[in-house]
Order: sequence, then structure tokens, then C-alpha cells
Amino acid sequence: MRKKIVAGNWKMNMTFEEGQILTSEIVNMYKDENVNDVIAILNPPFPHLFPVKKLIGDVAGVSIGAQNCSDKESGAFTGEVSAKILASFGVEYVIIGHSERREYFNEDNELLATKVKTALANGLKPIFCCGESLDIRTAGTHEPNVKFQLTQSLFDLSPEDFSKVIIAYEPIWAIGTGKTATADQAQEMHAALRRHIASKFGKEIADNTSILYGGSCNPKNAQEIFSKADVDGGLIGGASLKSRDFMDIIKSF
Ligand code: 13P
Repeated sequence: MRKKIVAGNWKMNMTFEEGQILTSEIVNMYKDENVNDVIAILNPPFPHLFPVKKLIGDVAGVSIGAQNCSDKESGAFTGEVSAKILASFGVEYVIIGHSERREYFNEDNELLATKVKTALANGLKPIFCCGESLDIRTAGTHEPNVKFQLTQSLFDLSPEDFSKVIIAYEPIWAIGTGKTATADQAQEMHAALRRHIASKFGKEIADNTSILYGGSCNPKNAQEIFSKADVDGGLIGGASLKSRDFMDIIKSF
């Protein structure tokens, strides 16, 4: 059985104090409310990772992830943070290939393949993001386009390594726009990606891969999106900055 996951991507938001308050609220609600086997992953900016991890403590089901890591192992790369450093601080997950990194930092499929391998080699579980632009969606080539992103960045992995990867489908036109994909559009793409994974790694691995939806997901639309057979949770931006909204999304299964 694949895992249900709701990951919050704080992006470049939250001061130290704001992050502490948000984390405490989420951890307390997660403990107090009836959360049905949904893993919550908080992905704050780098400086928050250690204090947020301390606040989470040993609460089962809440975990910590970074938003990026270097493709390099270590050395003279000023300003970069390696997977090894993240792992040494107890970080468990890392978002790789977010469309904002692809667009603003020119990260291409090849570089992302290296990042995924580096993350895995250091014991981190990648949350690999994929998704098409509005132009590609309008042209109707979104399915081959997104499959190609997986092929290029993930299909060199061994089956054992691939099994540790979480996929996040985030149509770019739905990110931060308030315009979510319909539940049917999400399901259609998730099912296509699962078939694509099965064609390379086999049905069992494909069936066990968690595929998350991201893009203007909120407490109002999460339930319908999460009800779809191939949607295993969400990668949440804006709504992950409000503890009540984030928890309500977690409880939408
Ligand atoms: P929003 O939920 O703000 O649309 O962001 C989605 C996202 O990019 C999560 O990684």
C-alpha cells in the first residue's frame, strides 16, 4: 500500500519566530486531531530545518524536508547546501526539481537527475516535482512532456532507489494562481505517470509510488482531488503557511 502524504512547501517565507509558531501549531493539532495515517512533511527554508526538527521531536507521522540540495557532494561551492549536510541534521526528504527552481535557477532534467542521485546516495528521499506550462497544456502535449521529465531525471535509477522517490505533479499554471487543476485533470495525469513508471520499473513499484498533486490546493478543493484513485496527497504552497488550512488539507482524505 502506498503512503498518503501531505507536504508543505514554505518556499521563501517565514521568519524564525513565525516558523516556530507555525510548526508548534501544526504539531499540536496533528497530535490532538484524528489524522488517519497521513504523513505530514514540513519543508521550510534551510535555516529553519534544525529548529523545526527539534519542535517536531518524536511525533510519529510528522517529518522534515528541505526545498533543494546541491548536485555536488561537498567542497568549495559557496552558498550551496549538500545532501550530506542535510542528512547529518536529521532531514529526511528533499524537494527536487520544483518548477521555480527549473525556471529561475535554470535547473534542467540532467542536473536534476544528478541531484536525485546525490540525495539518494546520502539517504534522503526525493520529492521529485514535474509539471507542464500553460502553453504546453494548451497545445495538448502535457502528457508526453511530463513523462519525459520523469524519464530524463529518474529512469536511470535502480528499482531499489526509485522506490524511495515521491512524485509531485505540479502543473505550472496552477501554482500560486488560485486556478487548480480539476480533480479529473489531476487523476488523468497521475494515472498516466503511474503507467509510465510501471513500463520502466514494473507494476508493483508503480503501485507503491506516492504521487502528490500540487498547485493551488486548499481546504476547499483538497477532498475532491484526494478522492481520486491515483492521487496520494498534496504538495502545498500558500495554504501550508496557515496551520488550520494545512491541517484541514491533511484531514481531507
Ligand atoms: P501553491 O499551493 O501556493 O499553489 O504552491 C504549490 C507549490 O508550488 C508547492 O510546491
